Amino acid sequence: MKKVLVTGGTGLVGKALEAIIKKERPTDEEWYFAGSKDADLTNLAATQALFAKEKPTHVIHLAAMVGGLFHNMNNNLDFLRNNLLINDNVLQTAHEQGCTKVISCLSTCIFPDKTTYPIDETMVHNGPPHPSNYGYSYAKRLIDIQNHAYNDKYGRLYTSVIPCNIFGPHDNYKPEVSHVIPGMINRMHKLITEQADTPESEKVFTVFGSGKPLRQFIYSLDLAELMIWVLRSYDSVEPIVLSVDEAQEVTIFEVAQAIATAFEFKGKLVCDTSKADGQYKKTASNAKLRSLLPEYTFTDFETAIKTSVEWYRSNYEQARK
Ligand code: NDP
Repeated sequence: MKKVLVTGGTGLVGKALEAIIKKERPTDEEWYFAGSKDADLTNLAATQALFAKEKPTHVIHLAAMVGGLFHNMNNNLDFLRNNLLINDNVLQTAHEQGCTKVISCLSTCIFPDKTTYPIDETMVHNGPPHPSNYGYSYAKRLIDIQNHAYNDKYGRLYTSVIPCNIFGPHDNYKPEVSHVIPGMINRMHKLITEQADTPESEKVFTVFGSGKPLRQFIYSLDLAELMIWVLRSYDSVEPIVLSVDEAQEVTIFEVAQAIATAFEFKGKLVCDTSKADGQYKKTASNAKLRSLLPEYTFTDFETAIKTSVEWYRSNYEQARK
């Protein structure tokens, strides 16, 4: 019987894992989804108490200080320190309490700024990250270093996944911290409700930046399925990119168009080029994933956006906004 502890179990990815596990009802695994109310993982004693109580054999480590471009740009020191603390507490406590497998989350946005494309698992440490999020990036990169060190010294199977941008139900819609998709969903919903009496043709939705940057987006429910596969079947310390295919990359403007379609918004979309764009692109190769899971079908982007917008509308009161 595996006992799986999910740190960050109340967040976007944690809730998606919970939804899949509720549907699957595995008989040989018991799952516990921990949020920050269960333990503040920046605190070692609280982390140890959580592990002592839940006695996990396996950990999916999602908990992190997470935020979009603007939140990162203004808070690099906090992103660095909080994430270093959380990761060190979780990995060392997992080791001390005998957990056999830990899967932590890196991100495609921690890769070198100056690089060749597509980026892949072997390139994480090849050069400095984009200056906008260096705190988050270096803290995340060190997880990979720690995983190798736990393997070298103790033979532990502590590994990591590298998702591209994630979106879905239970996202974080708070304007000051949100990523691009939840940020746009929140702003468009606000515009539609606040300007209910304005004719559609006069409504204007602003896309921050030029709209030109390219991104790969993975639906949280797809990522959850892939992470469960990693838990059960991927037995290497080396990270693995969990991303949609390169052909599924979209521009930020296309994201706005998909969200507008989901809201049936018929107004204008304009770009505010005075706002930062962040990295122009960070195209990642999922060739390693494809070599192991060639048949996996990702949810179509427009369908996943539609479901995410519907979730936000139906759960507006309790959404993190
Ligand atoms: P969310 O912001 O939705 O959730 C963060 C989770 O971490 C919450 O459950 C939160 O708990 C928990 N948490 C934060 N600080 C602490 C703390 N001090 N102690 C205990 N728990 C804490 O994040 P996501 O689900 O989006 O991200 C999951 C993982 O995926 C993260 O590691 C992130 O870096 C990574 N990632 C995310 C991407 C994205 O686009 N969202 C892209 C690539 C990687 P609570 O809510 O209870 O306070």
